[in-house]
Amino acid sequence: ALVRHGAGVFSEFIGSIPGSVAPLMLGIWNADDLDHNDVIFEPETDEVKYIISDGAEYLDCVSEYSAAMFGHSNPKILAAIQEAMNRGINLGGPGNDEVALAHSIKDRFRSIAKVRFCNSGSEANTMALALATHVTKKKKILAFENGYHGGFIQFDSNPSPTTIPHDFVLGRFNDIEYTRSLLSDEIAAIIVEPMQGAGGVSVATKAFLQFLRDAATKHKALLIFDEVVTSRLHINGLQGYFEVYPDLTTLGKYIGGGPSFGAFGGLVEVMEALDPKHSSPIHHSGTYNNNVFTMAAGVAAAKILTKEKISKANSLGDKVRDGINSAMKDYNTQLIEASGMGSMVGVRFSGPAQARLRDCLFFYMLSRGVYMGKRGFVSLNLTHEEKHIDQLLDSFYAFAQEVFGN
Ligand code: PMP
Repeated sequence: ALVRHGAGVFSEFIGSIPGSVAPLMLGIWNADDLDHNDVIFEPETDEVKYIISDGAEYLDCVSEYSAAMFGHSNPKILAAIQEAMNRGINLGGPGNDEVALAHSIKDRFRSIAKVRFCNSGSEANTMALALATHVTKKKKILAFENGYHGGFIQFDSNPSPTTIPHDFVLGRFNDIEYTRSLLSDEIAAIIVEPMQGAGGVSVATKAFLQFLRDAATKHKALLIFDEVVTSRLHINGLQGYFEVYPDLTTLGKYIGGGPSFGAFGGLVEVMEALDPKHSSPIHHSGTYNNNVFTMAAGVAAAKILTKEKISKANSLGDKVRDGINSAMKDYNTQLIEASGMGSMVGVRFSGPAQARLRDCLFFYMLSRGVYMGKRGFVSLNLTHEEKHIDQLLDSFYAFAQEVFGN
């Protein structure tokens, strides 16, 4: 078992959750007291379920914030990691798996002619932004309200001391007119998620992305699509789905098969600035940039991923979204709304008690054996089946009845 900090607290909460949601509505429980790290997980054989230290069983609908696209113990991925481990824990030089993974990424994403690996989505975005400012010889970044690009990348006028400083302007997602007012030749890069994830699971319109594409070209800026999460929604990423292509794409999460992963890539002439043979002032080096576990797991994962499997996970996600929204319609309320696209479902709360409603849903679902994202989301993976969605939705209907039924 993975023993993590604070697990006892979590077990206590689980142990004392009553069947009825009423005490929760009084605000006795506060989800903010808990953190993802408070949980002890032990993967179980069917790859979806978790066991928490108190012995209770939970259906995982978080999927490691979308990284566990293949479940938590896919036998082919585990075997690939084991085999890589047998060849040596880490090997600094280039390896065959690295080449194979690069090819599979290039084949999937049309905007990527050259790719570089790193260890997280945050690193990928950091490097893509640095590369864009270097190549354009400009500084200003156009980012978007509610965007999320990594723990130490915040486009906030009041950033924390650990945030990388950027000269930036902040557009409004899907708001073409407002964003147009911020454009100028000073912009070095436009960074956007084709569907915002952490900021509320909202999908961009094709018109908005096309507008950004045209604006970047017009102002000689580089367009960066952060597809760390969204690439899972289509075999060619959301860029392929929308047929709007950026200059640079950043990737992460499941593409590395589960272990820590990040990648960024794009046009040859842009990526070449990082080629050591050009002895340019910008560098991308890192001991673990091609760590053998991730490379091996990523190659194994790429063989598992198919259009059909992506579309199955997406249709299960549609079912979750439709189920939640139709339950809300039945109770004639708009206090909870499901958003997103395909396998990524956002659950939004409104009204004066929205924070409490969010906490209540989280704990209620736990009491029914369903673990969903505390801030309100569901991320499905390739191991989810209809029966899991039924369990999730039955629990949600029961919650709706408790809270909104007469
Ligand atoms: N970009 C997006 C869109 C993300 O959702 C995340 C992580 N949730 C990141 C970047 C950062 O990735 P990582 O956590 O691997 O640094």
